Amino acid sequence: MELKDLTCPTCGAPVKLRTRFVQVAVCEYCNQTLVIHDDKLDPTGKTAKMTQYPTPFSVGRYGSLKGTEFEVIGRVRYEYDEGWWDEWCLSIGGEKLIWIEEDEGLFRSFERVRIKSAITPWDDVFPGSSININKVDVFVTEKNEAKIIGAEGNLTVKRVPGTTLKYLDGTGNEQQYTIEFYEKSITLKSGEDLERGDFVFKEE
Ligand SMILES: [Zn+2]
Repeated sequence: MELKDLTCPTCGAPVKLRTRFVQVAVCEYCNQTLVIHDDKLDPTGKTAKMTQYPTPFSVGRYGSLKGTEFEVIGRVRYEYDEGWWDEWCLSIGGEKLIWIEEDEGLFRSFERVRIKSAITPWDDVFPGSSININKVDVFVTEKNEAKIIGAEGNLTVKRVPGTTLKYLDGTGNEQQYTIEFYEKSITLKSGEDLERGDFVFKEE
């Protein structure tokens, strides 16, 4: 696996790509959000510096989750009416990815799942009802809107600050589901709760 070194088109600083799956990289010098197209970095004009809060995660930090070693390569911050949450992108040896949602000290791992069935439109769903996704009955617990307000490091999904989304949270088949409705796409995530003790971090 060979990763080319790229240069930020806005400020000229080197931009490190930590896996070949990277779609978005944020310049650590000028905070420009850069989208990767044909091995080139396109500036989006979006810079969003995040307020820092205490967290064991940081981009570039190494650790392990239930014995599996990872490197933290990126983060996305979402804001909604009651606050915000972060999603951390972890690289497992550059070949596999795990995403961790951190919300007020609660941790959840999730993966993106292919949608193989029709999805009921967000407008037609209400908390307390059930919808069928990929042959699983999902009991909807939350319906809300959010906005991406910050990003840093490498992201393996195309998430850019300023993007708005609508989402549904629910449970089914002993899993937690989130369906995100973007302007032009729908993303399905399934995950499970983790304990803080499931993570071991290397000293920085
Ligand atoms: Zn830059």
